Amino acid sequence: MLAVLLLALGLPAAEPPEIAQIAEGVYARVVSPDGNAVANSGFVVLEHSVVVFDTHFTPEAGEELRTAIRAVTDRPVRYVVNSHGHTDHTHGNQAFPGAHLVGSDRARRDVIEVDLPAWERALASAESQLRALGAALPGSADERTRLRQQQQYRDTLSRLRILPPQVTFERGLAIREGGREIRLLYLGAGHTQGDVVLHLPGEKIVFAGDLFFNRAIPNVEDARVLEWGATVDALLALDADTFVPGHGAVGSREDVRAFRRYLHDLEELVRPAVDRGDSLQQAVGTIEVPAAYAAWRFQNFFPANVQKMYIELKERSAAVPPEAEPPAKR
Ligand SMILES: [Zn+2]
Repeated sequence: MLAVLLLALGLPAAEPPEIAQIAEGVYARVVSPDGNAVANSGFVVLEHSVVVFDTHFTPEAGEELRTAIRAVTDRPVRYVVNSHGHTDHTHGNQAFPGAHLVGSDRARRDVIEVDLPAWERALASAESQLRALGAALPGSADERTRLRQQQQYRDTLSRLRILPPQVTFERGLAIREGGREIRLLYLGAGHTQGDVVLHLPGEKIVFAGDLFFNRAIPNVEDARVLEWGATVDALLALDADTFVPGHGAVGSREDVRAFRRYLHDLEELVRPAVDRGDSLQQAVGTIEVPAAYAAWRFQNFFPANVQKMYIELKERSAAVPPEAEPPAKR
């Protein structure tokens, strides 16, 4: 039984409180999917410091998290862990200057090779659009409004700092302080190829990041869907009974099993289409969300789930079998 102590944080009574204390000194920030935070976060208060797990989608949402932490403790945030390199888990990093940024080797590569160039391109494009709008001045009232909006957009982008993990690891890393142990674990490919989870063995809690979507169809943009199931099995093998997802409410072991079943069912649904030789378009156009998952959030991701599964199954079936051993030389 999960005893969730809710902190009001000055929110009106009708609003669901965002910060949940799930154990002594362990907090989850479960956010609305419609807000600017996008993904969940959490933090653990140690004897002398605080460990943060994920920082939301914007610097402002990261600031909100910092404020929420300040309402609980004045100990400094010493470590900020990024579950993976996606923007909705990392773009609040800059709200924690002075903290060590921690993540997998692969998440660091993703931020440097994907997110950083994407941000540079977006900023360059925003600058050039701004120059084009500025050249037409004084212009109409509509044009001036567009110019102001474009300036705001450029300013927002230019305030953003893309901060990759600096303390990285391949398989695992432990943080110990005052008798509490935090284990950061890479369990295998899944949502990306660099997801890590934060396990509190003493409290039987896991912050799972996007390896676990709770009652939601997952984002598979950078996923390895055929490997994801085994990675969720490794997640289920951890000694834990509370699982904080990257998206959705704090879950139980049964909720993680439901997500594991979803990945299994997705493969079972798509494989016959690949075996029959259906085209990708046919598969995406005809395979529907099973009733068991029809009430899950993010239904709009389902066609992309079918597509990714189709492509990976096709690749697997096309893989050349290993060559036979060459005959021994005489
Ligand atoms: Zn993600």
